[in-house]
Amino acid sequence: MRMTVFSRGPGLYSTRRLMEAGEGLGHDMEVVDHALCSPILAGKKTSILHNGSPLRLPEVAIPRIGANITSRGVSLIRQLDALGVPHILSADGLLLARDKMSCLQRLAGAGIDVPRTVLCFSTWEARRIAPKMGPFPIVVKLLESTHGVGVALAHNLHQLDRLVEGFLQLQDRVVLQEYIRESKGADQRAFVVGDTIVAAMERRAAPGEFRANIHRGASAERIDLSESERELVLLTARTIGVEVAGVDLIRSHRGPLVMEVNASPGLEGIEGATKVDIAAAIIRYAEQKV
Ligand code: ADP
Repeated sequence: MRMTVFSRGPGLYSTRRLMEAGEGLGHDMEVVDHALCSPILAGKKTSILHNGSPLRLPEVAIPRIGANITSRGVSLIRQLDALGVPHILSADGLLLARDKMSCLQRLAGAGIDVPRTVLCFSTWEARRIAPKMGPFPIVVKLLESTHGVGVALAHNLHQLDRLVEGFLQLQDRVVLQEYIRESKGADQRAFVVGDTIVAAMERRAAPGEFRANIHRGASAERIDLSESERELVLLTARTIGVEVAGVDLIRSHRGPLVMEVNASPGLEGIEGATKVDIAAAIIRYAEQKV
């Protein structure tokens, strides 16, 4: 089968693994940089231009859309839809997952437990609302953070002011969130492919750090999720509409809370920690789309 992985970097671990797994399963694999893809609507000549020339369309596409190129990725996926090319990432699911607040709003609407969260558009608003969030520290987040870069802890009103002011220079809104102290710097990542959880790991923040991102030096190990956590993860991925998803949970005193959904989750940390061949699971899932 002809499969195209849309990815910025053929050398990236996840892309390499998908290529390897696809070739191992006998497919004709290609990597295409979606930053060079222009959707063109032109009657019968409607297609995708790659570097200005029509792209040979695959039988199935595997979009891997990085956080800094979401809107281009969305337009590519909508073009695949227009062309009738099957793929494994819905444009709407990607958009929803990329905005932390919209994602949590959709989950809360579906009755899924999420951390207490407020969206603020000004320092003034954040200052007024913060005391109602519970005791300090309070987590301050950028809406489109990755690798924990736009996530910080405010221990008092002064720090909150400075963080919110700084983040508002970068985006027009910030999220304030209750700090789940009892998680002790750990979170759980479940990797969903279709209606199956193929792997799960616990990430533990490095000493002196509260963010359990691998990029921030966190360690990771394989874990077994409870039955209710598994149900929660699958319901979450379904609710957001992301078929291949990294669902992040945080264990709180009131049960597991969903923190976020990743629509192009990385394979390196979780394949390393769990030894599961996730790339092959994704390829097999893509095969079924045709
Ligand atoms: P990113 O998408 O940039 O990784 P996250 O919202 O996932 O941002 O936060 C990064 C990390 O910070 C999480 O993996 C978790 O370990 C920690 N964290 C985030 N929110 C909270 C919270 N409300 N309470 C405790 N720890 C948190």
